[in-house]
Amino acid sequence: MNWIDTHTHTYEPAEGQPSASVLVERAMAAGVYKQIMGGVDLHSVEPVMELCRAFPDTVYPTIGLHPTEVRDDYKQNLDILYRHLGAASGKKDGGQPYYVAVGEIGIDLYQDKTFFPQQQDAFRIQLRWAKELQLPVVLHVRNAFEEAWHILRQEQDGSLRGVFHCYSGSVEQSARVLELGFMFGIGGVLTFKNAGLPEVVRNVPLSSLVLETDAPWLAPVPYRGKPNESAYIPIVGHKLAEILGITPGEAAFATTRNACGLFGL
Ligand SMILES: [Zn+2]
Repeated sequence: MNWIDTHTHTYEPAEGQPSASVLVERAMAAGVYKQIMGGVDLHSVEPVMELCRAFPDTVYPTIGLHPTEVRDDYKQNLDILYRHLGAASGKKDGGQPYYVAVGEIGIDLYQDKTFFPQQQDAFRIQLRWAKELQLPVVLHVRNAFEEAWHILRQEQDGSLRGVFHCYSGSVEQSARVLELGFMFGIGGVLTFKNAGLPEVVRNVPLSSLVLETDAPWLAPVPYRGKPNESAYIPIVGHKLAEILGITPGEAAFATTRNACGLFGL
């Protein structure tokens, strides 16, 4: 079976984990034949690209300023990120890594609301990059569904595409995500007891689901609480199959096809 991890931070292994290269290979051995690295700020640009160069056609980069990384200096940071993005997008035939998405971007009001106005501005700016470069977006939305949805609604001109990474909203909100034309990134939380996520995946089309780990965080059961890695994607895929009453092969086929379509892989 071929699986895709649409969101991982393998380039920054947790304590006790092997090197990033070993983690990528371990995932490949588990059938996770494509792995998308989520960039979060300037510091992640080089480690992400290094891994992409080491594993062409397996590891793909995204770039963006994560909402929790938005501070007073966000405009300077965005300028630099935009130059990286412009220099490495649309180079599919050049043999060099090229960005497959703008992300992680979004709004996060979980711990700190200090930079909420700046977060909104940075989010809007990066959504416009995506439209300009015709790239999908990887959204990080935490405790801020209404705030993020409001901006997406305003910016959606029919060309914005993307995924709510690590979707944690309600069934009611998922209908509004679909209305915007966005997809759902489903990870280890699906295996947690008392999670509302099974109810969500049962209520949205299979064609709107992609799998992700967000490694090294949010490891699925039975690794919950331990470092996560892309090799655990099949665990999430099997759980999805069980919830939907389909075979793991069908879950792999559908989620892989969805990921390839969204990210142009
Ligand atoms: Zn992430």
